Amino acid sequence: MPYVVTEPCIGVKDKSCMTVCPVDCIYEIDKMVVIHPDECIDCGLCEPECPVTAIFVDTDVPDQWAEFVELNRREAAAKTGG
Ligand code: SF4
Ligand code: SF4
Repeated sequence: MPYVVTEPCIGVKDKSCMTVCPVDCIYEIDKMVVIHPDECIDCGLCEPECPVTAIFVDTDVPDQWAEFVELNRREAAAKTGG
């Protein structure tokens, strides 16, 4: 179950999560960062680093941010070519 970045990251994007990810699967896009779900190893290290609680395991994403599960996949794939 990969981790997902959600709405609170928008406009904050301080990249704390990127510095701790051991597999560099967090990618910067225009307004936020996104996690590539096929590269994430579900280690959970990024979650407590986020100052705005934007990161959730995909099954725990709050309902109002459900769209971010697909957004992370789509935008990360666009950055990596797959
Ligand atoms: S859970 Fe681990 S591998 Fe996945 S994005 Fe966070 S730090 Fe990276
Ligand atoms: S730590 Fe949180 S706010 Fe900072 S870039 Fe990562 S997800 Fe966005």
